[in-house]
Amino acid sequence: MKIAILPGDGIGPEIVEQAVRVLGALDLKFETETALVGGAAYEAHGHPLPDGTLKLAQAADAILFGAVGDWKYDKLERALRPEQAILGLRKHLALFANFRPALCYEQLTHASSLKPELVAGLDILIIRELTGDIYFGQPRGRRRAVDGHFPGAEEAFDTMRYSRPEIERISHVAFQAARKRSKKVTSVDKANVLETFQFWKDVVSEVHAQYPDVELEHMYVDNAAMQLVRAPKNFDVVVTGNMFGDILSDEAAMLTGSIGMLPSASLDKAGKGLYEPSHGSAPDIAGKGVANPLATILSAAMMLRFSLDQPAAADRIEHAVKAVLAAGLRTADIWSEGTTKVGTREMGDAVVAAVAGKTIATKTKS
Ligand code: NAD
Repeated sequence: MKIAILPGDGIGPEIVEQAVRVLGALDLKFETETALVGGAAYEAHGHPLPDGTLKLAQAADAILFGAVGDWKYDKLERALRPEQAILGLRKHLALFANFRPALCYEQLTHASSLKPELVAGLDILIIRELTGDIYFGQPRGRRRAVDGHFPGAEEAFDTMRYSRPEIERISHVAFQAARKRSKKVTSVDKANVLETFQFWKDVVSEVHAQYPDVELEHMYVDNAAMQLVRAPKNFDVVVTGNMFGDILSDEAAMLTGSIGMLPSASLDKAGKGLYEPSHGSAPDIAGKGVANPLATILSAAMMLRFSLDQPAAADRIEHAVKAVLAAGLRTADIWSEGTTKVGTREMGDAVVAAVAGKTIATKTKS
């Protein structure tokens, strides 16, 4: 099993280090190789996704990714900005399905902005299509308007588009994922206004005919945004397009209290994937040793389950994280009165110990 390790920028290296230590605590043989990506790669090689990094990612069975970005790169031309590395990896590796579980841990229900009873036991899987939609549709650009409300005025435009095969393959992924859960899929669209999403809805319904054991509901995106904060536990698997998925998965993340807890996976059709925390590079806390490494550690667990066919090892990591939370250890982002505040490395130590079946030490009371 060859894993490409791409730590990236900001807190990326700190949190990935802990995930790699946790992987090392399992009795499995991995070959790992690390490469620069994002701003760090731009500094060293003049490009956020250098050839060497891309080749390593292509050759690996799975990629463990930290985060990229820093405000200091905001003035760079778009193609050289750190975030382009993720888009480049998605494109070159044909990663089309993004899995974002939003799971509310029992001990963290108070950290949610919603009432505990609304989020206790929450377990949603948002599946976002990654290759199509308005993010990639052509043509796009700026021009002088020839019609519309202000002919002659400067305007900008993007193109929303989805092809049948794109919608079909993400629908299959969603229905198959639902079969392993509670057999319900909510497809989110804006079919009442957008032609692209009327087509989306039609194709999802056609694919659904092959999964009669799975319940399908369709929901407009504005209603879905509302229902996610009104009664989030009514959802199980949510499947949607690139832009709606981008927004709804962040909304769902917040239901769980901290983005520092949420893993993600981006998969190709063969199950090879890129695994990364749902958060960014958090430049505001980088280098301080306070970042929460659990989202990255849980991403490593997803990697074991989805790409490396090691479900038992994935379970071990997930149980270890639960044990650490149950022992009262918290990084600053999830800390509350009566729990023990720990830094990034101490949190990593605790998960490593729990994976190895050792008792978890709680030293630094705060
Ligand atoms: P962010 O997710 O980096 O940070 C948002 C807030 O959450 C910050 O206050 C941060 O300190 C906190 N936070 C994030 N992760 C945390 C963790 N593990 N533990 C504790 N606190 C955590 O989002 P942002 O500030 O909007 O973006 C910062 C940079 O990250 C930007 O350059 C952005 O483009 C980039 N970004 C990268 C990715 C990615 O690599 N996939 C995703 C989103 C944003």
